[in-house]
Amino acid sequence: MKITMIGAGYVGLVSGVCFSDFGHDVICVDKDTAKIEALEAGRMPIYEPGLQQIVAENVRDGRLAFSTDLAESVRDRDVIFIAVGTPSRRGDGHADLSYVLDAARQIAEHVTGFTVIVTKSTVPVGTGDEVERIMREANPSADIAVVSNPEFLREGAAIDDFKRPDRIVIGLEDDRARPVMSEVYRPLYLNHSPLLFTARRTSELIKYAGNAFLAMKITYINEIADLCEKVGANVQEVARGIGLDGRIGAKFLHAGPGYGGSCFPKDTLALVKTAQDYESPIRLIETTIAVNDTRKRAMGRKVIAAAGGDVRGRKVAILGLTFKPNTDDMRDSPSITIIQALQDAGALITAYDPEGMDNARKLLEDVTYADSPYVAAQDADALVIVTEWNEFRALNLARLKAAMRTPLFVDMRNVYQVSEVTRHGFSYVGVGRAGG
Ligand code: NAD
Repeated sequence: MKITMIGAGYVGLVSGVCFSDFGHDVICVDKDTAKIEALEAGRMPIYEPGLQQIVAENVRDGRLAFSTDLAESVRDRDVIFIAVGTPSRRGDGHADLSYVLDAARQIAEHVTGFTVIVTKSTVPVGTGDEVERIMREANPSADIAVVSNPEFLREGAAIDDFKRPDRIVIGLEDDRARPVMSEVYRPLYLNHSPLLFTARRTSELIKYAGNAFLAMKITYINEIADLCEKVGANVQEVARGIGLDGRIGAKFLHAGPGYGGSCFPKDTLALVKTAQDYESPIRLIETTIAVNDTRKRAMGRKVIAAAGGDVRGRKVAILGLTFKPNTDDMRDSPSITIIQALQDAGALITAYDPEGMDNARKLLEDVTYADSPYVAAQDADALVIVTEWNEFRALNLARLKAAMRTPLFVDMRNVYQVSEVTRHGFSYVGVGRAGG
């Protein structure tokens, strides 16, 4: 199949590269010239494990190319995916569809022959109808079928997720698109990844309903964690105790500083706005958003309380800035709010993150960046693990203790056992664990 991917970001690049790895002929288009120049030079514009190698292999084998020229790249293709950003619109929290609709308009002007247009971006219900309307308006003779195919990959495990998805959801109104989409995903179908065909609006809603459910599940265990601290229970054991129930499932039951990232915050908000517009409010998700928003700042206060109630002029070392490990993505990371809360209370912040510091510099002011956890901990009055990168799982606690001014260890991801840390002379605070 001849495939073009519009948008070479976290989703577009990974999807495009994986499609080429299946044997399809793929062009990844982005309007960001720096991104395309980097890719052409063999440099990855994002950090995603395994990406560089599979890009190199598929470019070498002639199945993968990059371009900034949308017009040239959409002629004579079987399938064109739109994988551009859909951030929250400033002011009202609705999904900002301007990038999707601009791309659709541009594609319509240059597309030739029967082409399946696929929205891979996360878009509110009804966007497929709007994409189709805009394209027909821009080019009434364009022979197109507009399909919804939301993406469920997770940053940090994106390639594996794309190649071994739990399911592939395809929403369509024009049956001519069905064999084309089946062919696009045939290699995965042979791997027994189920292809779920639905109506287009249903497919659009599946993505939001899924993400909002996961955000709610995280928020639920976070509130249970708070209760655990009050009643003297252990949230990790509660999570295991409920997670073994097949109706609940063990995943997304890790208590922490609140969800963040480029998807959950904006997608929960967009779902709530859609539901309100249709006078069918989803109160569970409205509450999820409110609880999660207050939690992040409360995590800053948790550090302050652990430090005896005053951090003015004291140095706090933050380990982990990205919203989760194995990505450089800083969008809506809880670390941003936590650091702001600490700075508002007068703390001096030193931070270390294996991959996120370049992006963090653009978002966080007055932070000193260190090149290792131990440099960050030098003379610190508190050490806070915000993101559970693997390299923070076996820190040399004796070395940290020797470097710090005050041995306070706040573990927002419950990476460590209480006894392990206290044995080295630290006071230790975890999440949802009585006595640590
Ligand atoms: P991103 O910001 O990393 O990438 C979007 C890219 O699109 C940018 O590089 C931008 O320059 C490019 N672009 C915008 N308009 C363009 C145009 N007209 N022509 C060419 N390029 C254009 O975003 P992302 O994280 O990859 O997310 C893309 C979509 O996928 C969003 O709707 C998001 O909600 C959804 N999604 C993201 C994830 C994730 O983990 N990041 C997972 C599932 C779904």
